[in-house]
Amino acid sequence: MRAEGATYQAIADTFAVTRQRVIQKIAELREGGTRRTLKYNATDRARDLKRDYSKRKRQERKALVIAHYSDGTSACIKCGEDRTACLSIDHINGGGHAHLRQIGKAGSSFYEWLIKNDLPEGYQTLCMNCQWIKNAEQ
Ligand SMILES: [Zn+2]
Repeated sequence: MRAEGATYQAIADTFAVTRQRVIQKIAELREGGTRRTLKYNATDRARDLKRDYSKRKRQERKALVIAHYSDGTSACIKCGEDRTACLSIDHINGGGHAHLRQIGKAGSSFYEWLIKNDLPEGYQTLCMNCQWIKNAEQ
């Protein structure tokens, strides 16, 4: 942040502010925003907007991944269940738990991982009932 050799006093002189103001400004920037944005971020409205945004992003990721691994039907490839809340991604050749542990992901962050890895092969969309049935048959 600080130009080579410049003291806070030199920066303060350049911008015609006090040295204390420069130190405060740097502290605000380190915390991720100005005093005004930090104050705003602490409000209920900001928290709600952020939560809604994250939720929407999670839903979009899940919708995309579920659609991809069901050949665009967005339904279980075994029984046709299409209620999104019931659908999940199945590791076709098993080993799902070990894989999730290995990459340290679960749920939404697993969908994010799939997208980041260009939606690799070896997965399919199944509803939870069909997952249970598959597990019982193995
Ligand atoms: Zn199913």
